[in-house]
Amino acid sequence: MRFQCPYCGVGCGLLYEGGRVKGDKDHMASKGDVCQKPLYYPKVMHKDRLLRPLFRESKRGSFKEIDWERAYSIISSKLKSLSPEEVYFYLSGQLMTEDIYVMNKFIKGFLKTNNIDANSRLCMATPATAYRLVFGSDGPPCSYEDFEDADAFVFAGSNALWTHPVVFKRILKKKAEKPEVKIVVIDPVKTETAKKADLHIQIRAGTDTALFNSVLCVLYKKGWINWEFLKKHVAGYEEAINEAVKYTPEIVSDICQIEEGQIYELAELYAFSKKLISLWCQGLNQSSQGVMKNLSLINLHLATGRLNHRGCPFSLTGQPNAMGGREMGYLSHGLPGYRDIRKEEDRRFMEEFWGIEVGSIKPNPGPTITEAIDLMLEGKIKLLWVVCTNPAITLPNLNKVWKAFERAFLIVQDAYWNDTCEFANLILPASQMGEKEGVMTGSDRTLSLCQKFSEPPGEAKPDWLIFVEVAKYMGMGDAFNYHNSREIFEELKSATRGKLCDISELDYEDLPKRWGGRWLYPELRFQTEDGKAKMHPAVYKHEEFEFILLTGRTKNQWHTMTRTGKSEELLRGEEEPFLLMNPEDGERLGIEEGEFVELASEHGKVKLRVRFGGIKEGHLFAPFGYGLKHGSIINALTGDKIDPISKEPDLKLTPVAIKVKGAVTHEHVKG
Ligand code: SF4
Repeated sequence: MRFQCPYCGVGCGLLYEGGRVKGDKDHMASKGDVCQKPLYYPKVMHKDRLLRPLFRESKRGSFKEIDWERAYSIISSKLKSLSPEEVYFYLSGQLMTEDIYVMNKFIKGFLKTNNIDANSRLCMATPATAYRLVFGSDGPPCSYEDFEDADAFVFAGSNALWTHPVVFKRILKKKAEKPEVKIVVIDPVKTETAKKADLHIQIRAGTDTALFNSVLCVLYKKGWINWEFLKKHVAGYEEAINEAVKYTPEIVSDICQIEEGQIYELAELYAFSKKLISLWCQGLNQSSQGVMKNLSLINLHLATGRLNHRGCPFSLTGQPNAMGGREMGYLSHGLPGYRDIRKEEDRRFMEEFWGIEVGSIKPNPGPTITEAIDLMLEGKIKLLWVVCTNPAITLPNLNKVWKAFERAFLIVQDAYWNDTCEFANLILPASQMGEKEGVMTGSDRTLSLCQKFSEPPGEAKPDWLIFVEVAKYMGMGDAFNYHNSREIFEELKSATRGKLCDISELDYEDLPKRWGGRWLYPELRFQTEDGKAKMHPAVYKHEEFEFILLTGRTKNQWHTMTRTGKSEELLRGEEEPFLLMNPEDGERLGIEEGEFVELASEHGKVKLRVRFGGIKEGHLFAPFGYGLKHGSIINALTGDKIDPISKEPDLKLTPVAIKVKGAVTHEHVKG
């Protein structure tokens, strides 16, 4: 049986045969390559599963098993007694496209509320916004095929060897064949990826926009801009270049704490490589300046005409179906087919498509998940339904989040007991990868069919079916009369007809297949009003702190370890959280390796064991995935700052103080 890996956004094709998982050689995205995470999937998929719906009247009470009928009756009466603004749904890029489509239809079309968001808000909201601003539509412009003839790869804010291993290993293999291939890594941490690079620019966290502006400044001053390309295909370049020329390498080497020569080296690469691919991930996205960082990097591609056969800006998606979620419009502003609720023609199309009254879909985006947390605390949102994700660990400023969860009626729908269940009133057992059928879309727009190879345990059900049965219970059965995922796919694909992400001609039997072809804009005509791509002035805001906390993943764990943490093999060496610190900082503060220190931000305190390693001085790194049982939950420290355009939270620049033997390093930080 074939399926797509349920972990990172590379979207590797896998085979399940005789109880084992292996790479699928026929899959166009991964060609049989695989990392070790999914190999242990059969071992963990049935471990400690949720088997039946669980309910408790009060948050302090014990859960009791109930049947599905009773669960639907509780949900139905809650949803009917509350106004559309008082309920909120939080979905996941780990759901299948059919799940997401049914939920979005139920919520935006039939409950008539845009109070829905997904964990892509913590991950891909920023590049999706930047792509729309530049190209007029979401979607990475190139595909993995473009890696084959590229001779330069720039990784920004990405530890791809750990987080997207199959992609990075493919590039390493290329470099082994052709040593002239250049790899650049831009990261404050000397990651395993950075160790493999020809050039590691160990930048001060948060200063990427200044760096990319400076590269554009050099391109301009050296006469390396592709003016012909700009005049034909790009708008806004004068304003963008005017902003960038303020960032001379002399000034920026100081801002970024790097050598001036590294900026020139990077500029030469953008100017003279045969084909250059820029790949980036959460280091650029999870930032209060995330959209500006993305725009400043994409500006380099436009200024040098690096699209299609000359290169591409390529955002690596975090989750296995973040692309599918975006195609189905699962954030608070989206509708299927990359439509937008703010556009009347898009609302009217979907209303007609779903057979609902004109005006059913509301024109204003609902609150994002972090805004919804505040509304829960104010008592304005009274019910939260979380599907296939663990926000009790992944959201920022968790002390606040946990208080909000205490106030709302919380429904958790998941395959496993996760940390968010601790705050729940009602828990719904869901089936997962291999126990249901559906499609997912990986980073380069390749759709894969995920076939069923195992029965779900207990009474667990596919996520789409739970929503279908709730809709039927509430009297909306005619619009949700699906018997299997294929029927849902047949409907959702028609909603994409004529749109950039058109999958209307695809059937399950055709997959894997990429939508949009190898290049999304082969004629260099973009989805903007004038058909041109747009460069934007990338405005940089400087922030300085004594100690900056960065958060991220470990090598073998996937997000909050709900599943990968159940594998002894994957857990080996990653059993407990840690704090990565530069040894010079350790010596200055009198800290020894292995010692516990207390970190404090204005939002909370956490104790962590110190590990010395390659990280820029004044920077600290801690993994975010360790749950409540570990006691050291790093998102208790992260704060409320969000990007003003994408509304993605900043998880990469938290000012912290370190308390060592009673003394605090930074007096401005309240503990
Ligand atoms: Fe899965 Fe990502 Fe590893 Fe591929 S690289 S096997 S998608 S975790």
